[in-house]
Amino acid sequence: MPRDELEEARRAQLIEVTIDSLADVGYVGTTLAQIARRAGVSPGLVAHYFGEKDGLLEAAFRTLARVVAVKMSERLALASSPRARVQAVIDANLGPENFDRRTGTAWLAFWGQVLHVEGLKRVQTAYQRRMLSNLRSDLRSMIPAEDARTLAAMIAAMIDGVWLRAALSQWQEADSASACALLTAFVDGRLRDLAQLHAPSAGVVNPAPAADADTGSMRIAGTITVVNPATGAVLDELPVDGVPQIDAAVEEAAAGQKRWAALTGAERGRVLQRAAQLLRARNTELAELETKNTGKPIQETVAVDVLSGADCLEYYAGLAAGIAGEHLDLGPKAFGYTRREPLGVVAGIGAWNYPLQIACWKSAPALACGNAMIFKPAELTPLTALELERIFAAAGLPDGVFQVVQGRAETGRLLTRHRGIRKISLTGEVGTGKAVMADAATTLKQVTLELGGKSPLIVFEDAKLDNAVAGALLGNFYSAGEVCSNGTRVFVHRSIRAAFVERLRERTAALRVGDPLDPRTQVGALISADHMEKVLGFIARGRAQGARLIAGGNRVTDGALARGCFVAPTVFDHCHDDMDIVRREIFGPVMSVLEFADEDEVIARANDTEFGLAAGVFTNDLTRAHRVIAQLQAGTCWINHYNVTPIELPFGGVKMSGLGRENGRAALEHYTQLKSVYVAMSDVESPY
Ligand code: NDP
Repeated sequence: MPRDELEEARRAQLIEVTIDSLADVGYVGTTLAQIARRAGVSPGLVAHYFGEKDGLLEAAFRTLARVVAVKMSERLALASSPRARVQAVIDANLGPENFDRRTGTAWLAFWGQVLHVEGLKRVQTAYQRRMLSNLRSDLRSMIPAEDARTLAAMIAAMIDGVWLRAALSQWQEADSASACALLTAFVDGRLRDLAQLHAPSAGVVNPAPAADADTGSMRIAGTITVVNPATGAVLDELPVDGVPQIDAAVEEAAAGQKRWAALTGAERGRVLQRAAQLLRARNTELAELETKNTGKPIQETVAVDVLSGADCLEYYAGLAAGIAGEHLDLGPKAFGYTRREPLGVVAGIGAWNYPLQIACWKSAPALACGNAMIFKPAELTPLTALELERIFAAAGLPDGVFQVVQGRAETGRLLTRHRGIRKISLTGEVGTGKAVMADAATTLKQVTLELGGKSPLIVFEDAKLDNAVAGALLGNFYSAGEVCSNGTRVFVHRSIRAAFVERLRERTAALRVGDPLDPRTQVGALISADHMEKVLGFIARGRAQGARLIAGGNRVTDGALARGCFVAPTVFDHCHDDMDIVRREIFGPVMSVLEFADEDEVIARANDTEFGLAAGVFTNDLTRAHRVIAQLQAGTCWINHYNVTPIELPFGGVKMSGLGRENGRAALEHYTQLKSVYVAMSDVESPY
């Protein structure tokens, strides 16, 4: 057995022995010496692998949590409806493989300690948040968000309760099937009750929050704790905005928008131009803040995040004066013209991967067109949008024309359902896109949706190998893989696969994972512990489903990195089209290499996905490049490059990856509406 695998097997064995020991003698009784004795190795060896007792126990707890997380992901992948996905979460937690004396007692031994041991608390929190977020997101497709939150919390509490009761009965009453049945009956009962409560005869389904809504019925409160995912340090605590704040913001925006739209395009352009200059002047400071909040390397944020936002403001500053309708000749007795008018108050809702850039991509065209924008950043990354708000104010934007509100999905829903808002531009997951579109329909708002992807990157046999490898690295590991357009399905022609993979392996292994604030770091932290667990769960499934790991595949915990959410850039070879890592969006540093033999075959396989955000082709054959691109079902494509997004080119997806376009002139159409005007030049001819 190779050395790495031997070490891995030894670690796994020690973890299993630890779980046995916890089940037998509990947390206090489990010591390094005792584990060593049980495993038949020296205490020094256990210490060599895990350091102190806490290190070993954290690794064991993480293993237990990951087993359930992997089971949950497998069951979720098979579930075809939101209700089935909720059931998958229940079944994974209470399945026979987990609901037994050994596993259950070990879990409970940990539970007793989580409040006091930081490492265990992190694992437990990540596990709980992931489960709750899975439950909430599926329940939200069936019941209103507030109810979904409550029911998700109830389900989680019942799962814990069932485990506790089983343990207290010394596992005499531990029966996985009865436990699942109990939870199933409870969930079905609650869903039935809620359906009756919200049935049309009982009144309004999901009452829409609006300026005139009963504000007392919407209880959105609390704060958001902003955390640096590279260190766990708390960066800030922000209050969550609810109905009163959103109503006030919309009112202020409506008043400001009238003043703003009354300016000429050139005047509006000058304000945007000044904001761009302020962004550029504060590049270093803002890049640092973005790095602290997202975990992305400073070498990226200083070169891209702030400056691409400034590029965007400059681009639309230049276009603002040129926004115009058209003149239409209707013969000697009339003419017509169109006015391209702003929509009014619009809202932007951002994802957490490019917080400042997304805020700029949405606000710049919206403001250039004379709209006011209310922007809600993602709960995890709310800081730089607030700086943008200050920058716009300093640049001379009238009060209320760009406002940032803070909160989670519920705050987002207040925007999507508000009668005073005419458009929503969302960047987020496909599920969120569907929810937003459904909510926007209640007031017939326009929507632009920038959603997820699982994009193909195709490398033909005549491609320049180093360029193609560089494209694959850019398209998978930039921002630790948290990029919507990433080319995570890398199709390589059979004749060059071995050479490609070898070069890829070398260059991936050389990537420097480290402190995001260190300018030499190339791969930083993932956004949260929850997300890291999700990514590690996918990696585990890739292995389990037979993909061959050729780089990475593990969490990085060297030194201070142990406090953060770092995952090594990971490459799987020998992947198949039906593997989870190939079909589902991972949004982390995980690349899948697939082999193909001919052009038609690879086009069909590249298109065999519900997504359609992006695609890339590497080839030196000009004709083939254009022929293939024309057949790929994707909104944004690259030939012999990957993931470059100049502001001049429209960006967006087809199929489930979205609606509408950001950037380029195309975005102007999404932030304006046409008014057609007929002008008579003669007397009215009337039959009456
Ligand atoms: P989410 O969809 O979870 O969240 C996006 C935003 O929507 C957040 O601000 C979130 O609030 C908010 N939100 C969630 N539910 C609702 C709702 N029902 N109504 C209104 N607002 C809601 O996405 P992530 O933040 O996790 O971002 C990752 C996803 O974004 C990936 O799928 C990625 O592919 C996609 N993405 C797409 C891009 C594109 O241009 N096509 C670019 C970047 C990312 P909160 O988080 O505060 O709860």
